[in-house]
Amino acid sequence: MTKFGLSICCAIVLFALPLIAQDAVQKDIIKTSSGDLEITFLGHGTLMMRFAGKTIHIDPFAQVADYTALPDADLILLTHHHGDHMDLEAVEQIRRKDSRMLLTQTCAEKLTGGTVMKNGDVQTVAGVKIEAVPAYNLVHRRPDGNPFHPKGEGTGYILTFGKTRVYVGGDTENTPEMKALKDIDIAFLPMNLPYTMTPEMVADAAKAFKPKILYPYHFGETDTAKLTALMKETKDVEIRIRSMK
Ligand code: ZN
Ligand code: ZN
Repeated sequence: MTKFGLSICCAIVLFALPLIAQDAVQKDIIKTSSGDLEITFLGHGTLMMRFAGKTIHIDPFAQVADYTALPDADLILLTHHHGDHMDLEAVEQIRRKDSRMLLTQTCAEKLTGGTVMKNGDVQTVAGVKIEAVPAYNLVHRRPDGNPFHPKGEGTGYILTFGKTRVYVGGDTENTPEMKALKDIDIAFLPMNLPYTMTPEMVADAAKAFKPKILYPYHFGETDTAKLTALMKETKDVEIRIRSMK
C-alpha cells in the first residue's frame, strides 16, 4: 500500500472509533436559544455534553467509558475527589494542553492546572457560564458519624447554554440551597444509596425547585420506579430515566 493509502486508512479508523463508541450509549438533544445541546449518558455519575462545537466532560470515569474513543475535553468539570468522580486515568485521556478544568480544592491537591471552584464561584468557559453550588449530606453518614460528603468539600454545577440552565448535582442530598434553586431547566440528581438521596429526597427537592426535566443519575441499585411514582402528580416536571446506574 502506498504511504498515501495507508494514511487514509488510518484516518478512517480514527474517525470510526468515536462513532462506534458513541452509538452504543444513550444521548438526548436539547434545543436551546443558541443551538443544540447534546447530552451523552455515559453511566454512573458521568456525563458528556457537546455544545457549539465544544466538549464538556463531567466527572469522567474510565470504568464507564472508553475515553480514548471519545472527543477530547474543552472543559472538564469535577464535582469532588471520590474515585468514581475524580479518575486520573480518564482525565489524562481527554485532557489537552488547552483544556480548561474546574474542580474542588481536594481534587486540586491531586491534579494541577485546574481552577478551584468554591461554592458560589462563577466561571465562563467556551461561552458556557458555570456556577458552583453546594453539594453535601444532611442525613447519610459513615459509621464514624461523619457525612459521606461534608459541607464545603464537594460541588454541584449549573451550566448555562444559551438560555438553558442545566444543574448537575454531584454527590449531595436535598439541601436547602438545592431546594432554593431558581429557573433550572434540566436537573441531574443523584440517588445512589447510602451515599446520596433516597427517591423521597429527590422528589422533595424536585417538587421544590421544579426543573422542567429531571434526570435521576448516579442511582446504583435504587429503584427509579419509586421516584416516578412519587412524582406522578407533579405534571410540570418531566422525568427521564436513562442508563445512569
Ligand atoms: Zn462521593
Ligand atoms: Zn458518587
